[in-house]
Amino acid sequence: MTRSANETELGRKRRARRIGRVLTETHPDAHCELDHSNPLELAVATILSAQCTDKKVNEVTPKLFARYPSAVDYAGADRTELEELIRPTGFYRNKTDSLIKLGRALVERYDGQVPGRLTELVTLPGIGRKTANVILGNAFDVPGITVDTHFQRLVGRWGLTTETDPVKIEHAVGALYERRDWTMLSHRIIFHGRRVCHARKPACGACTLTKLCPAYGTGPTDPALAVKLLKGPRARDLAVAAGVDPDLVPPAAVAAEVP
Ligand code: SF4
Repeated sequence: MTRSANETELGRKRRARRIGRVLTETHPDAHCELDHSNPLELAVATILSAQCTDKKVNEVTPKLFARYPSAVDYAGADRTELEELIRPTGFYRNKTDSLIKLGRALVERYDGQVPGRLTELVTLPGIGRKTANVILGNAFDVPGITVDTHFQRLVGRWGLTTETDPVKIEHAVGALYERRDWTMLSHRIIFHGRRVCHARKPACGACTLTKLCPAYGTGPTDPALAVKLLKGPRARDLAVAAGVDPDLVPPAAVAAEVP
């Protein structure tokens, strides 16, 4: 059932948990989409991901990580060389600045290692609370909720919170779920936001959450129209999960780049 004006706290929590379970089935492939093999690489990739697709970041990072394997390398980086390497991710001058300052701060204060605590991470150059939670959840296995633009939009549409401040959203949504589920929940919500529940024209008619979502109808509800809005290589699977004929999914949806 969708949310009604007089939904109780308990009712909202139950609906939130149901949404979580449906998303687990809808996006079995959900994961951190930034390639990395250690906390430093994830911190760097997350800084580069500002105003840039994860796909583009992943194209740049293999060469970058090979050239700068440690915090010391970023601290002593040649600015021009680093700028050239990360230029395709946009805002490369600011990002270069952040990476060099991050390297220096890690060397000066943390012996070159990325710390595993939120309070320490947020003091580092280029690392806000969102980035810190990504690092904690994916490089340190500390449960974290990542409130990015997709997360914020979707939990708002679902009526899970009316908060607009990211930190308040983090706490409000965190209270609805088990702490141990926070990291994967964040990935699944972000996956759903990138592939189904877009900012403009969400694929309501091909969404697995129609019965749980008060914003159903924000996008087209006709399945034949909605499937065209699905994005990525699993578009046909997403249609099946929503009970829609996968043959309605056009090749363009399967080939569409996930934002
Ligand atoms: S029903 Fe529509 S608004 Fe609700 S989650 Fe699905 S795509 Fe988004």
